[in-house]
Amino acid sequence: MFKDRRLVIATMHKKEQVIAPILESGLGVKCILPEHFNSDQWGTFSGEIERKHDPIETARQKCLKAMELTGCDIGIASEGSFGPHPSIFFIQADDEFLLLIDSKNNIEIVCRELSTKTNFNSKVIQTEKELLDFALMVGFPSHGLILKGINDDQNTIHKGIIDQDELIQLFNQLKQHSLRVQVETDMRAIYNPTRMSVIEVLARKLVTKVHSTCPHCEMPGFDITDFRAGLSCSLCGMPTKSTIAHISVCSHCGFTKEDLFPNGKTTEDPMYCDRCNP
Ligand SMILES: [Zn+2]
Ligand SMILES: [Zn+2]
Repeated sequence: MFKDRRLVIATMHKKEQVIAPILESGLGVKCILPEHFNSDQWGTFSGEIERKHDPIETARQKCLKAMELTGCDIGIASEGSFGPHPSIFFIQADDEFLLLIDSKNNIEIVCRELSTKTNFNSKVIQTEKELLDFALMVGFPSHGLILKGINDDQNTIHKGIIDQDELIQLFNQLKQHSLRVQVETDMRAIYNPTRMSVIEVLARKLVTKVHSTCPHCEMPGFDITDFRAGLSCSLCGMPTKSTIAHISVCSHCGFTKEDLFPNGKTTEDPMYCDRCNP
C-alpha cells in the first residue's frame, strides 16, 4: 500500500534523522521534507507562541500543511507535550504523538508514547554557578538550553544554546538588563537527543501499527482501542477492576475483536478484589 510512494515529514527540527530510516525500511516509502515550512506557527515550547489545539489536532494540521506544500498524499507529523507525569508523582514526562495521514486511502494512524525519559526542566537563576549546575544536570551541551531575561514589559529569549562560553556570556548580559533570568531545557528535537530517542521509539511503533491490518477489510492500523474490566477474583469469583479483554476496533469497517485474558491470567489475585480486600 505504501511502497515507493513519497512521504513528507512535517518537521523543521531534523526529526527526519530518526523517522526517515525507520519508515523507509519499514514501509518502503521515500521520505522528503517540506521547504519553507514553519512548524512554530502551531506553538513553541518556549512559550512565545501558544498551542491552540490539542496535540493530535496540532499534529494533524502540521501534517496536512506539509502535504499541501509538497503535493504528497502521505505525511507524518509528531507533537510532544512536557510536564508532570499524569500518574507518577514528581516525575516529568514527554507525552509524544506521531500521526500518519494517507489521503489517497483515507487513513489516519496515531501512535502515542508517554515516556519518563526527558530532561524537561527550568529554573530562575542568580549566579553563574547555579547556571552551570543546572546545565550539568540536564545534559548540556549535548542538550540545548534556553535563556530568558524576564522583565515587566518585554522578555528577551535566546534559544538553542549549545556552547558554554556563549551560555555564560548571554547569562551575564541578561542579568544586567532583566528583573529575573530563567534557564530552560530546549525541547526541540534537534536540540534534545533524549526527545529524539522517544520519537525514534514512536516511529518503530507506528510501523508495527501500520503492518497490523484488520482481519476483515485488511486496512492498516488495526490496534487495541479499549480495555474491558472484569477479570474474576480467584477466591470469591466476583469480577474485579482488572482487565479481562483487549478490544480492537477497525476505524474503517467497524470490525471488532476481543482478546480474552491478554495478560496471560484467567483469574485475579484476591489482593485486587474489592470484596476480598476492600
Ligand atoms: Zn476493517
Ligand atoms: Zn474476591
